[in-house]
Amino acid sequence: MVDRLVNSEANARRIAMVENCFGSSGQPLAEQGRVLVGEGVLTKMCRKKPKARQFFLFNDILVYGNIVINKKKYNKQHVIPLEEVKLESLKDEGQYRNGWLICTASKSFAVYAATATEKEEWMAHIEKCIEDLLRKSGKQPPSEHAAVWVPDNEASICMHCKKTQFTVLNRRHHCRKCGSVVCGPCSSKRFVLKGQSEKPLRVCLQCYDELNRERARPPNQPAAPATTTPVKPMGDNAGSGGDSSADDDSDDDDDRPSAEEKHDEGFTSYNGVKNGYGSKVTTV
Ligand SMILES: [Zn+2]
Ligand SMILES: [Zn+2]
Repeated sequence: MVDRLVNSEANARRIAMVENCFGSSGQPLAEQGRVLVGEGVLTKMCRKKPKARQFFLFNDILVYGNIVINKKKYNKQHVIPLEEVKLESLKDEGQYRNGWLICTASKSFAVYAATATEKEEWMAHIEKCIEDLLRKSGKQPPSEHAAVWVPDNEASICMHCKKTQFTVLNRRHHCRKCGSVVCGPCSSKRFVLKGQSEKPLRVCLQCYDELNRERARPPNQPAAPATTTPVKPMGDNAGSGGDSSADDDSDDDDDRPSAEEKHDEGFTSYNGVKNGYGSKVTTV
């Protein structure tokens, strides 16, 4: 009983610390029943390149942001409800190691941990939180998720026509359905992608045709799996909204030098929380 009180006090203090670090750039995080499960630095695959981001795992949300001053100041806060999250492990590939996908209906991206152990810890803790949430709410895990964007530098030519060379003038675009990097003419069509936006979004010509065929199919016929198999390594997507103005594109372009420093990476799991919350995944 005393233990639990101490734990909840420590938990409240930790959450207040996180709030403080984000300051006015973040939203209030303290909430009845919310527990900070762990935190650490992960490398997030962004549109242009991989970048260090501070992640906080709560029992119901995943929060991340840019590191302005390590352990002191973060900004560009993103909050992802865990109920909507699906994880997918990634195979090691060249420099891309210890990675997995964090997928939601509106946004999907790849993250990489420093070590295999760390990856295991992160994934196990997140999965446990999702499992507990879904059990409590009785909800189903999400069936569809947004495409993971292929990073810009993975494609020097259009992935659809395989002809157009990208230059300053010939800009890269991303298909919101499959995540491919495509040229303007190959992504001139728009389609409403349920879960991502009410507005029609840029899709490549191939996806446009497939989406139209799907729509034309009589309802009694089984639909093809809605999610697409992303191409590795993965980039970031911008979620809803238009092209380069979308929120996540801008978060890529606004790094202070400190965000590129070497951080003491690792998943910090909170002991009190572990006992109180019961997510004894990595120890014992
Ligand atoms: Zn093209
Ligand atoms: Zn496409």
